[in-house]
Amino acid sequence: MEAKIKEATKKFEELLRGQLERAEKMKENKDFTDYNALDKIVIGIVPGDGIGPIILREAERVLRFLLEDKVKSGKVELKNIDGLTIENRVAKLKSIPDDVMDKIKSCHVLLKGPTTTPSKGDGLPNLESANVTMRKELDLFANVRPVKVPEKNIDWTFFRENTEGSYAVGSKGINVTDDVAVDFCIATTEGCERIARAAFEFAKNNGKKRVSAVTKANIIKTTDGKFLDICKEVAKDYPDITLDSWYVDIMTANLINEDIRSSFEVFVLPNLYGDIITDEAAQIQGGVGTAGSSNIGKKYAMFEAIHGSAPRMIEEGIGEYANPSSIFKATEMLLRHIGFINEANKLDEALNKCIEIEKKVVVTGNKDGATTKEFADYVMQTVKAL
Ligand code: NAD
Repeated sequence: MEAKIKEATKKFEELLRGQLERAEKMKENKDFTDYNALDKIVIGIVPGDGIGPIILREAERVLRFLLEDKVKSGKVELKNIDGLTIENRVAKLKSIPDDVMDKIKSCHVLLKGPTTTPSKGDGLPNLESANVTMRKELDLFANVRPVKVPEKNIDWTFFRENTEGSYAVGSKGINVTDDVAVDFCIATTEGCERIARAAFEFAKNNGKKRVSAVTKANIIKTTDGKFLDICKEVAKDYPDITLDSWYVDIMTANLINEDIRSSFEVFVLPNLYGDIITDEAAQIQGGVGTAGSSNIGKKYAMFEAIHGSAPRMIEEGIGEYANPSSIFKATEMLLRHIGFINEANKLDEALNKCIEIEKKVVVTGNKDGATTKEFADYVMQTVKAL
């Protein structure tokens, strides 16, 4: 028994050292990029694999269309980044080859296509997912997911902490004996502060008046308590925005309570609750077709579709019929993130018209539907007519 306690204590000590080191490293990036203050914003276009190059080609056209003046004046540069393909990654035996990573780091924000991840039995070397590598390398700590159901007056944005909580050392739990297993939950001051600030900055920049923190701080007192305390501290810097605090159990109920749910605007959550609550919210939205995803850090941010590279569509020769709705939604989020609210709102309104209301051009993902390009044309025409 004593030996087992000693062994577990040793593992715990290693884990603590790793976390203290991580907490120090996190402090290196102090401030969020102020896009307003930049002479030029560089947007990297990363096509990825499978249908990625097709949907990204159209997303780039939409971006160029919406940002025509800004590209002309030199305020915005769109930079194509080749090489984040499964062929190149396998050839270099790196999840993100060094030269590609350098190019990625020369941009401020990225619009990324889906990347194929090798899996067991496909004969490819066991490379880490490009997304996981990118998230770590660029320190993209906030997973931001919007959920909108206009007819139910739902317009939510979730800020899920993406690097700590119960997931930070998820694979390092300890089976102390056959009878006792222990897992760990980590909260750092920097980790909590930066996600809280990201949520409040978003609220401030998008005219939102309410941020709701979701924890279980009444039970998980130390780590969730810290998360909540720091949210309260950060809130003091945003006097026009109200912070309210909810326990995750009641929040699962609130989201299906039609009397109150439309009053929520922005949510900030530790990793585990974010994982659960955003899936519930996606279900309420009904489908994932129009949702984009973003991974935000202090220095960099990456926006992408929520689906994968759909390799079968390429094999079957129907790649040109891929649905670009999700990457267009990600494009809208990118525009909003860098402060081009007017352009983002136009794209949002047009997408809603094209997908939900008029449906004059419908993409089915097959030859019976419109092509990716035809749908992009329809979206741009709709923007013009707004
Ligand atoms: P997938 O999303 O690529 O495909 C699931 C199904 O949805 C398929 O039938 C596909 O044809 C269809 N589909 C996907 N996107 C579509 C679109 N835009 N238009 C029409 N139909 C579409 O999921 P999968 O098959 O599990 O994954 C394929 C590859 O993508 C894997 O290597 C996986 O690791 C990778 N992936 C990458 C990301 C990312 O880069 N963020 C995310 C998920 C999966």
